[in-house]
Amino acid sequence: MRIINVNERLCLARADGRAIDVERASGGRFSASVQAIYPRWQEFRAWADKLGAQAEASTYSDDALRAPVPAPAQIFAIGLNYRAHAAETNMGLPESPMVFTKFASSITGPHSSIALPTKTVDWEVELVVVMGREARNVPESQAWEYVAGLTVGQDLSERTLQLSPPLPQQFNLGKSFPGFAPLGPALVTPDELPNPNDLKLSCSVDGKVMQEARTSDMIFSVPALIAYLSSILLLSPGDIIFTGTPGGVGIMRQPPRFLRAGERLTTTIEGIGTLSNLLQA
Ligand code: ZN
Repeated sequence: MRIINVNERLCLARADGRAIDVERASGGRFSASVQAIYPRWQEFRAWADKLGAQAEASTYSDDALRAPVPAPAQIFAIGLNYRAHAAETNMGLPESPMVFTKFASSITGPHSSIALPTKTVDWEVELVVVMGREARNVPESQAWEYVAGLTVGQDLSERTLQLSPPLPQQFNLGKSFPGFAPLGPALVTPDELPNPNDLKLSCSVDGKVMQEARTSDMIFSVPALIAYLSSILLLSPGDIIFTGTPGGVGIMRQPPRFLRAGERLTTTIEGIGTLSNLLQA
């Protein structure tokens, strides 16, 4: 199952490219609010699985797509979670996940334009996990059962603010300017993917590939991250986890290469879809 946010209305995405409006198709049983569906995820999936092919569907434009998780209560992000990225930063392999946050006001849609606040904004393609159940002390072996689905994210990062001393460095602020968390284009349930633990992810700037890897290269897998976080705190439905970025970020290039106004940032994960964001001054 794939869900999309069309102009702030929850929709099911059909394989033919049309969308089913959930509030209308359910006769009001489920509301149009996209974020409100996650606390009712099991009930919603059971309803959607029984929905017949005759449900009314309509076309939509990519420009109408918004984030499939528009207002999570908690956003977790993981640093140094791919071997190649850990190596390029010369920071060594972490022994446990390195966790920070992005604030929810940074979320934007999969096709929106994003303003660059400075000349040192960098890209980070990431697989984003969306929780579908409350999770506390969940073992790795059961962790996927707590996931509503996966989506594509960019962990845009203003490197000057992020990395400026003194400690603690401003990771959370440097990654939370408006528009710094584009999400989408769809939320895809894990059963739609041949292997949700091994997905190709990439990003490019004006067509030039900057990052390309597979999620199977993660140091801490999706189940390991859920097990770790839920051993400390309560994960709730609609919370999201940015699972880290692979090698190839701009700041580690020689010379460093940052995003420029007028460029298009394209971010793709196989089986899920593509974000296409125009950068503006
Ligand atoms: Zn990141």
